Parts: sequence; structure tokens; C-alpha cells
Amino acid sequence: MKDILADLTPGEALVGKDEDSRQIEDELLNISMSLKDLEELTLNAEQIQDDVLKEILTLNANTEYLHRFLHGSSDKELFKKNVPVVSYDDVKPYIERIANGGEPSDVISGKPITGFFLSSGTSGGKQKIFPVNYKFFEEINFIFALRSQIISKHIKDVEEGKAMAFLFVRPPLTSPFGMPVSYATTGFFMSDYFKNRPTNCYTSPDEVTLCLDNKHAMYCHLLCGLVQRNEVVSLASAFASSLVGAITFLENYWKEICSNIRSGHVSEWISDLSCRDSVSNILGGPNSELAELIEEECNKKSWKGIITRLWPKTKFIQTIVTGQDAQYIPILEFYSDKLPLISPSYGSSETMFGVNVNPLCKPEDVSYTFMSYFEFLLADEGNKGEIVDLVNVKFGSYYEPLVTNYFGLHIYRMGDILQVTGFHNSAPQFRFVRKKGVVLSLNIEITTEEDILKALNHAKLLLKSSLLILKGFTCYADISILPAHYVFYWELKATNINDTLRLDNKVLVDCCCVMEESFCVPYRELRKKSGPIGALEIRVVAHGTFDSLMNFFISSQGASVSQYKTPICIHSSEALAVLEKSVIARFFSDKSPPLGSELQY
Ligand code: AMP
Repeated sequence: MKDILADLTPGEALVGKDEDSRQIEDELLNISMSLKDLEELTLNAEQIQDDVLKEILTLNANTEYLHRFLHGSSDKELFKKNVPVVSYDDVKPYIERIANGGEPSDVISGKPITGFFLSSGTSGGKQKIFPVNYKFFEEINFIFALRSQIISKHIKDVEEGKAMAFLFVRPPLTSPFGMPVSYATTGFFMSDYFKNRPTNCYTSPDEVTLCLDNKHAMYCHLLCGLVQRNEVVSLASAFASSLVGAITFLENYWKEICSNIRSGHVSEWISDLSCRDSVSNILGGPNSELAELIEEECNKKSWKGIITRLWPKTKFIQTIVTGQDAQYIPILEFYSDKLPLISPSYGSSETMFGVNVNPLCKPEDVSYTFMSYFEFLLADEGNKGEIVDLVNVKFGSYYEPLVTNYFGLHIYRMGDILQVTGFHNSAPQFRFVRKKGVVLSLNIEITTEEDILKALNHAKLLLKSSLLILKGFTCYADISILPAHYVFYWELKATNINDTLRLDNKVLVDCCCVMEESFCVPYRELRKKSGPIGALEIRVVAHGTFDSLMNFFISSQGASVSQYKTPICIHSSEALAVLEKSVIARFFSDKSPPLGSELQY
């Protein structure tokens, strides 16, 4: 089968055509019901589970996929007995037949598939895609409405101000059979569900959010947010990395933004006309007083509390700081002078999982309440393989959620590991523990152990021709300076025993470059000039450093000598200190890696 992403071309929005407009209107009417729904959904979790599964099976029993196991029945016991647990590679051929081969949706879905969501997760080095239709947009809409209502319940008067939200889209693609493929956020923001939202609480006009050039959009989001600084009650982004990226961007562009405010004229390089016009409207005219005020704050030596200084009425920051993005909590606390950081919800390209019903809890205590149909694979140490229903999960246990949705996935292993932390009424709440297999991630990119080993193999070829051997390595994600970047610690040795170690700058810089070139498309995309990921760095450490690292783990953490393996990634600051004190040279990649031809977006 041809690779699904090989021939994607720029495309259109996933949903938003006439056939969906009635559903959208119904959904908008339902939004005001959200908080009541939350109580109902969680009080009757078991009944809701049964009802949702029944609905899914009735809708999908005759798809080619489910028919293989259920022979047309929509019996839920038969479903649980006969339908296997699957991973992406099992469902990929079915997805590809629709996206790539133009076969009808009923290969996997009872209702028409209207497009595909592009996940940051990969399979065989390629990004995964998942089928979707209007039902998914309804789910997203419902969760977004619910989380706004939950926040309004906990924080006074949020409706009276605006959110400066760093929302972005990527140009959508078209599958070889002409179906839209996009990131979930792009799909949603380009849909009528977003366009027709009942209230508009953002400082940026939609033309900015929908601007296809993210640099232009970022500039305009900041400009609009600064002009309306006294109305801003919250800052928001999907994940914390984007918000930190926005502040870094501001560090580089505040002078230009202030000069735009002073002159009342948007910089010429903002070339998207609709974006430009809408921002000019907000800018109104020259405002030198405001420009001076912002300049004064930005000119101060420290940017501690810059968020509350520039946007003095901000009450909270809405952005996900659980999972990988927990690494950004200290920097956001620094910039915001410890405003509440609210992780509102947990979702993926496969489904929406749940919401945080206790938004003001500490970031490390965040749990998500699940409401839709899910099963769970027990992932406790030494006790794997047991599957339980949502209402039967046990407090403290670890699970991998199994997704069954309305649009083509059935008992699908999605790869996140969660821990049960409690219950809201009878619905369980989960703490996000980790994504399986991820070693490094700074933004939406996922770099697995396999990716790192592959990258090192490329670099080792260069080392070999320079008569060098890699004796030991480990890595970590350095976010202490922005843009954040990947750091690899290498202990090198000359191939000829008697030779002394000579470090050729060109060879080591090339090693940085070839490693970056072999990382996934999202990494390379994010590494582009002024992107949120900085140049990969190799820090060469002195001879014997990896022995010291082993001794450190053995003495301080009781690691077994016979079973000791150098961790592929270092998380402890003490272990990092062992490496840092032995660094003898540093090398950085000197160019952005090419995007390659397999995927343009
Ligand atoms: P994608 O498939 O690209 O939409 O990415 C979805 C993944 O992002 C999930 O499987 C999680 O690993 C991660 N994710 C999404 N929401 C959260 C959250 N609230 N906390 C931690 N990780 C999250």
C-alpha cells in the first residue's frame, strides 16, 4: 500500500459544509447545558457507558471491520468478547483504503468519514492519521464549552474580559483521494463550529488565528493582545510550549510591535491582507502612550512577572502543563508571577478524553474526569493484559485507555499511560503519567528511543570516517534557555588506541545536523528559523564521565551494577551535574534540517 502521506497536497477544511450546519446549530443550543450535563454524565457513568456503546455499535455493526467480528450484531457482550485490542498498524490498512484508495467510509465507519486528523504520534517514522466526521467536532465543541463553564464557576467575572489565545492553524492537506487531512486543532478552528461559536472572547480576530503563516499569526496575536491589554483576563494556548514560545517571540519583537502601536500602522511584512486589515482595525490609530508603557516594561532587565506587568488584569493562564509540558511550569511561573496555571482538558486525534473539573488545583495534582465510552488495559508493573470498563478501574492503578469512537476506532490502544486518582461522582479521574515510548519532546514532536538510535547511527558513520568512536551517550531536553533544544552528551574515543582525542569542529557540527535531519517531520518543522526548537547540541564529555555517571546511579539510587544501563535520557538534576562538570566541548547544528519531500505542510 502506498504511503498515506506521500502525496498529500494543500487542501480544505474538514467540516463546515451545508450538510453539517443543522447539527452545528443543535450543538450550539446544547452548550448551555454543559455543567448540568457534567453532573448527569458523571452520576450515571455506567448507564452512559452502556448507552454510548450501544449507539456506536448500532451505527457501526455493519461496517466491514466490525462485521468480521460481530456478523451484524450490536450486542455489547459479543463486542467485548470478539473484537480484538488493536494498535495503529492493525487499523492503518483500513484507514488507508478510505483515504488513499477512495473506498467508501463503511469499511470502518457507519457514518461518512469527512476527513482525517494528523496526529503527532508516528508509526514507522510517518505521522498517523485518524478518520473523523462531524461527531468529533461536536465532542470537541462540547468539551470546550464545558471547560469554559467550569472555569467560570471557579474564577469570578471571566466572561467580562477577553482571552489572549495563541491559536494557530497549519495549511490543511488533501489525501491522494482528495479528502482533507489536518491537525485536530486546525480542523476545528477552520470548521463552522469555531466560526459560529456563540460568544467571542478572544483578543485576536479569527483572521489572525486562521492565518496560514504562523509567524505572522504570532506577531498579530501579540499586537492585538497588547493593544487590548486592559481587557485581557487570561492567556491561553493548547500546550504550554506555545505560550512560552509566544513570550520568547515577544522578547525578539517587542520593539517592532511598540513601533506599530506608536505609528498606528501594522508592519508591512504582515502580508496576509485579511489578517492585516483586521489587525489594523483593532490597532485603531497611533497610540504613543501605550507604546511607551509597553517599552518601559519590556526594557526592564528582568522579565519576571512580564505577563502580569503587560496584562495587569490577567487572572489565570489556560494551557496544558501536564505530561511533557510539565517542564514549562517553572518558566511560566516566572513570567506570570505564579498566576494559576489551568490544564483544562485531555484529548487527542483519536478522541476527547476528559476535562479538569478542579481547575485551580496545583499543576502536579491535575486529573481529568472521563465521561465517554472507554475501556482500559491494566498497565501496573507485572500485571498487564487485563481489560476493565471505565467504571471498574481501581484507585491508584495504572492503565492505558482503549478508544472506541463513533468514527472507526474500536478497542484501539492509544499509547498513553494514566493513573486513577479518584472519582467525580461515579466517573473516574486520571492523572496523565506519560506517553509510551517518548524520550524527548519539547513541543508537539515526539522523539522515541528508536528515533534517537537511528539518528545516532547516522552520526556514527561520520565519526567512523574521522576515526572516532562513540563510547557513551545520553540526552536531555534543555529548556533553561529559549528556544529550548535537545542536548546530547557524548563520550568519544579515538579509534587508534594510541591517538589522542582530536575534535574536529566540522565533523561534530555535521553530526548535529545529520541527527536533526533524521528526526520526525514535526521536529524539523519546529526547528525552522525562529521556530520553538533551537539547534541540537552535542556536549562532549571527558574520558571516564560515563563511568562516573554509573557510579552516581549505583551509589545514590541503588542501581544494580550487573543490570546497570546508561539512561537514554537524563531527568535528575544531580545526574546532569555529573555530566555538566565534565563537558570539554560544545557543538551546535548550524542549519535548519530540510523538511524532505514526504510531507509538506
Ligand atoms: P495528537 O495525537 O497529536 O493529538 O496528540 C495527543 C497526545 O497529546 C495525547 O495522546 C497525549 O499524549 C498528549 N496530550 C493531550 N492532552 C494532554 C494533557 N492534557 N496532558 C498531557 N498530555 C496530553
